[in-house]
Amino acid sequence: MGISTFSGAHPFRSECLLEAYTQDVLEENGGDIESACDEGLKQVPELLALIDAGRCPRCGAALSEGEVPCGSRITECRCVPVCKLCGDSEALESFVMTRISGPEDSVLLGLLGPVCDWPIDHDAEVTALAEARRRYGRRVELLIDLENQSVPLGDLT
Ligand SMILES: [Zn+2]
Ligand SMILES: [Zn+2]
Repeated sequence: MGISTFSGAHPFRSECLLEAYTQDVLEENGGDIESACDEGLKQVPELLALIDAGRCPRCGAALSEGEVPCGSRITECRCVPVCKLCGDSEALESFVMTRISGPEDSVLLGLLGPVCDWPIDHDAEVTALAEARRRYGRRVELLIDLENQSVPLGDLT
């Protein structure tokens, strides 16, 4: 398909997405790799259709004209194209995950996007990201900047 992300080690490969999906199913549900892969083979085409349509497979939103997609952190190679919003969400995922402890934090869950739940709810994601910015202020921007420079997070978390 020849889609390149800002940070990808190579142009997008559907097998990288399938691999990540399979791993995620295994982590979530256990079971054997064959059935996890079958599950991926069933679901991944839907995500590929989104990418083909110029949409983000993580949240389903349309990319802007000429937007260079972010490379999703679901793979080391970061070749899976996602929108800027999802790039920011993924940069914050581990930070936010450690801060979810009760029902009052459930609004932040909209930010999390395990690949087997793709596409996630775009509106819930927008709300969650706004809430993270409200609660953690400048740290959120610093984390996103650091992540985009692939600098280790150090003691910020
Ligand atoms: Zn997205
Ligand atoms: Zn790849």
